[in-house]
Amino acid sequence: MPAPTHEHPNRDSVTTIRSDGSRPYLHPADTQGRFTTARQISAFALIAFYLSLPWIKIGGFPAVFLDIAERRFHLFGVTFAAQDMWLLFFVITGLGFSLFFVTALLGRVWCGWACPQTVFLDHVYRRIERWVEGDAVKRRALDAAPMSAHKFARRALKHALYLLVSAVITHLFLAYYVSLAEVWDMVSHAPTEHWGAFVFIAIATGALYFNFAWFREQLCIVICPYGRIQSALIDDHSMVIGYDVRRGEPRGKPQRNAPSAAAPAGDCVDCSRCVQVCPTGIDIRQGLQMECIGCTACIDACDDVMARLKRPAGLIRYDSQKAFNGSRTRWLRPRTILYFILLLAGAGVASWAISTVKPANFGLTRMTGAPYIVDEQNVRNQFLVRIVNKRSVPARFNVCLDQIPEGLKQTGFDTVVEVGPLGELVQPLILQQPRARYTGPFKFGVHVEDDDGKFTLKREVEFLGPEARLLREEENERHERAGKK
Ligand code: SF4
Ligand code: SF4
Repeated sequence: MPAPTHEHPNRDSVTTIRSDGSRPYLHPADTQGRFTTARQISAFALIAFYLSLPWIKIGGFPAVFLDIAERRFHLFGVTFAAQDMWLLFFVITGLGFSLFFVTALLGRVWCGWACPQTVFLDHVYRRIERWVEGDAVKRRALDAAPMSAHKFARRALKHALYLLVSAVITHLFLAYYVSLAEVWDMVSHAPTEHWGAFVFIAIATGALYFNFAWFREQLCIVICPYGRIQSALIDDHSMVIGYDVRRGEPRGKPQRNAPSAAAPAGDCVDCSRCVQVCPTGIDIRQGLQMECIGCTACIDACDDVMARLKRPAGLIRYDSQKAFNGSRTRWLRPRTILYFILLLAGAGVASWAISTVKPANFGLTRMTGAPYIVDEQNVRNQFLVRIVNKRSVPARFNVCLDQIPEGLKQTGFDTVVEVGPLGELVQPLILQQPRARYTGPFKFGVHVEDDDGKFTLKREVEFLGPEARLLREEENERHERAGKK
């Protein structure tokens, strides 16, 4: 059989699907080592960050509070209204380009280190499983054992803890949308008083439980789109976790008393530790594979084996395909440069867009129906003025018209209005120009400013009407008709 290479894995099916279509339930072995420790620290920091956000108050609101009911979104001290949602396009685009850039450089580092699926599965749910049922060997033995009181008790405890943790996560997730106080209020009252939230919690808890208790690595392999597109984002110079074929092959068990010529020359002793620890069940020695989530478990497992054999670490390591094949890794290449430029452009536009967010929003729309009304005295335009106060205190706003022609009458809107905390005010603004002074459509400005001068916004609007010549002709005809009578 030819030695496997990085480019050609020796299989053509997903490792977690048997030939009869059934799925082997994986019990990856535990690892210890520098990457395991670093990942644990990073995962606990991420979980602490996630859990603490609803508790930390900035500017009177939780650090992240997506208040859908009030259509206000509080993010780290900045309040966005529904009208600011266009910013999301730039933020998501900027984040997308960042992910492109990081993937082109470092492969699936997001999957292994920061994805919530990996973080919660490896560092919360598998920890519970290990605590209740023991290590991978004991768990496999328990799976194979017939049902007994002991097995039932372990399974019941494990699944009860899974459900409890899933419920805690979903309640905290809900707190991002309705605040902790509201969640606590819901929890303290009967479900019949808040059916919607209760059903959401029940479904989300069930989905989390299903995913983390059973579906697990299938989400990464079968559902996650990022796993698919990453093969288009990386190239032979991207960092991946790989096996050094040139150093490891030919593999074989160390033979103590065999003549040296018969001993395998490669460093891989074929102990299969790297396979036993893999959470997606692959053999990294077969080359880069779609299922690899970059969790680093096989690096620590193999480094441990190498340390025991007094051989250098790094038979499995972070490196590029080029480096594994004996060439030099190039960090600067067209795709990394392009992704970096796109990242800078995306981040720059997103920062500019966010910097334009004001503590209030002002909108001016023409009322539905005819764009203008002409009666015997006036030409009339009707608008709706909408002012949104995004602050948690009341604010007074001045609404002023600029560059208006003489004789224009403004009604339906007081020049100073007060809008309550996080409130919204919608009022009509009616402008009338006497026929005698009307000289045709014209543009004018409307500006809104608050009392303390911190906020000001301008809009340019057009006063619409018929051509002045037509209006005069109609007027003359009317006078003639009146004179004949
Ligand atoms: S852990 Fe290292 S030595 Fe053992 S099989 Fe894997 S690559 Fe070979
Ligand atoms: S091959 Fe290694 S890095 Fe990839 S998923 Fe398996 S254990 Fe993790």
